[in-house]
Amino acid sequence: MRYLIFSDLHGNLEAVQALKKFLHRRKIDHFICLGDLVGYGASPNEVIQEVRELSPLTVIRGNHDKAICDQESLGSFNPIAAAAIHWTRANLSEENHHYLSQLPQGPMTVNGTITICHGAPFDEDYYIFGEFDAAEAFLHLKTSINFFGHTHFPYVYSESDHLVQGNYLTGDRKEIRLKQGTSYLINPGSVGQPRDRNTRAACAIYDSEKKRVSFHRMAYDILNAQNKIREAGLPSALSERLTMGI
Ligand code: ZN
Repeated sequence: MRYLIFSDLHGNLEAVQALKKFLHRRKIDHFICLGDLVGYGASPNEVIQEVRELSPLTVIRGNHDKAICDQESLGSFNPIAAAAIHWTRANLSEENHHYLSQLPQGPMTVNGTITICHGAPFDEDYYIFGEFDAAEAFLHLKTSINFFGHTHFPYVYSESDHLVQGNYLTGDRKEIRLKQGTSYLINPGSVGQPRDRNTRAACAIYDSEKKRVSFHRMAYDILNAQNKIREAGLPSALSERLTMGI
């Protein structure tokens, strides 16, 4: 099976369109989305529509998806992110609001072999940013292949013989071979708001037969995404950061 793992689309339609174009040439059996379909970007309805058209095997909610439906969870948001949540809430169709409200919370095990979560398996809002966090996460994971999102950084944590190691992926394309007896906790990066100073949309493909995970980056029409953010009256920082990849 070949799984496309993608996360943190954040209402960026142009980035999602680049992802779809990338998929034209590839055989994918299942789509798995790690949450945050909306927030920050100016095309939340269109992005939800695109995701639904993929008929994903699983979509779990992210903290932004949750905040759209649950006022109380906005407390942890900075003012710019909170402004984007208010804007998204006001501009989302009733149907798409309902779609977000029924997204399940992670962690979730898919096909009995892959566990997914948005932030961390013990807290969907938690950022896994180092080996110590990853070690804690591994304590909560029962499968050897696991994926997380939320940080917007493509990253691979591995654990074998109680040794947790983090590997940061640079460049546009990378592939890792999965070893027997090792557990993995992998972030595919963000589709709609990459933060690793690489402006391109990110995703990963997990091939369960070949025991490989490949990481991919796709250039997209950043200017158009930025114009929409400005025209929508969303905070300008949300537009500017896309050209910096932060
Ligand atoms: Zn996010």
